[in-house]
Amino acid sequence: MELNFTDNLFSLNPGDVVTKRNLFDLIQFSKVQDSEYWSGDSNIINNTPQQGINWIGDLPDTKGVLIKTRPGSYKEDGWSDDNQSSYHYSFKARNNVISFKEKANQVLISQPQHLYPIFLFTESGDTWVYEGAFSVSTIEDTYVVLSRYMPNLIAEPTDEYNKQQHYEGSKSYVTHLMAERNGAIVKKVKQSREWICDICNSIFNDKYKVKYIEAHHKVPISTYSSQHKININDFSLLCPNCHKAVHIYMRKDGMEYDEIRRLLQRENA
Ligand SMILES: [Zn+2]
Ligand SMILES: [Zn+2]
Repeated sequence: MELNFTDNLFSLNPGDVVTKRNLFDLIQFSKVQDSEYWSGDSNIINNTPQQGINWIGDLPDTKGVLIKTRPGSYKEDGWSDDNQSSYHYSFKARNNVISFKEKANQVLISQPQHLYPIFLFTESGDTWVYEGAFSVSTIEDTYVVLSRYMPNLIAEPTDEYNKQQHYEGSKSYVTHLMAERNGAIVKKVKQSREWICDICNSIFNDKYKVKYIEAHHKVPISTYSSQHKININDFSLLCPNCHKAVHIYMRKDGMEYDEIRRLLQRENA
C-alpha cells in the first residue's frame, strides 16, 4: 500500500502494510508546501520528535491520530486480549513525568470528545502493519485503552445502496456506543442529575437497594459526523430495561430518542 496523501490513511484496511520510508515521508512532507505529499493546511501531520505518535491537524480540528508501536517498548503497551480488540497505549513521559499539557497526550485525552479515529500501526521489520482504527475507551493514570472503532456490526449487504446505508448506520451506532462508554463524561452526567429513569420514572435503588443508572446518548445518529462533539446535555439517564429497549428500536427501526421515548411512555400509560 502506497500512501501519497494524508487522506489515504482513511482508506486503509486492517492488515495493509506500509513501508517505514513511505510513512516517514508522508509525515515529514505533509508539512512542506509544494512537496508531492502536500494536501493542504488541514492535512498537515504534526508530531513532537521521536514519540511514535502523530496527529492530523491541531486540536480542536484534529482529524485523526497515528500511533506507531512496538509492543512492549513501554511498560503498559500491548494488546490487552487475544482477540486484539483493545490495545494499551502509554502516555508520553519525559524523565518519567507525564504532562497532560503535552500535545501528544492531549490528542489521546481529547479523542472521546471529538471521536476522530486513531490509526494503529505495529512494527514488522522495515514496515508498519496497519491494525485498524481505534477509539479511546478508558483513560487511566499512565495509559489509555484503545478499542476498535468498528466492531463486527456490518451485516450482509444486499446491494450497493443498502451496503452504503448499512455501513453508515453501523458506524454511527458504534460512535453512539463509544459516546456512552466515555467514562469521564458519563460520570459528569451522573453526578449532575437525580437517578430517575427518564422514560419509566423508576428509581433502581428503591426496588433493588442498589444505586444504579445508565447514561444514554440521545443525539440522533443520523446527525452524527466525524466532527460531532459530546456534551453532557446530550445524555439522558435510563434504567437498564428502558435503555435496552431504546437501543433495540434504534437499531431495528432507526428511530430517534424522543420518538422512542414517546412510544414507550404511551405503551406504559
Ligand atoms: Zn426505565
Ligand atoms: Zn444508549
